[in-house]
Amino acid sequence: MELRDLPGDGKAQPRADGRGARRVQPVELLKNARELFRRDRVAAIPEADNGEIYTGFCIEACSGVMNLCAERVAGLNMYMQSGQTKVRRMIAFRDRPPCGKGSGMPCGACREFFYQLNEENEDMEILVDYAKRETVTLRELLPKWWGAERYEQAR
Ligand SMILES: [Zn+2]
Repeated sequence: MELRDLPGDGKAQPRADGRGARRVQPVELLKNARELFRRDRVAAIPEADNGEIYTGFCIEACSGVMNLCAERVAGLNMYMQSGQTKVRRMIAFRDRPPCGKGSGMPCGACREFFYQLNEENEDMEILVDYAKRETVTLRELLPKWWGAERYEQAR
């Protein structure tokens, strides 16, 4: 599919409710995504519990107040688009698939985020080596998670 095949002219449209906010056309989102790739950004792709696929790109700003990893952006995108909080599996990469060691590994903040999003995400599989098809679970990356007790009390 090419950009020209998508609906919309790439220009921001005024909202129907007149609040002045903009509704971005799909073609504009794709242009933005391509720009992010050109900047050598990390992308993350979680598969939600229902099998739907979502995406996110890392956001880095000069002041640091808006920095977010691709994994958290993708998780938030999944939640905002569908209300889902459970992830089956996820891959994160920059210019090539994960190849072992630290590549493909979520940072500590992202590990915590996915646990807090849904306790059952402890079983989500994270691809750490594409060639070997090796995955690791969130439980393995963050054993004895502090929030498990709070989840237990909330039931
Ligand atoms: Zn992270």
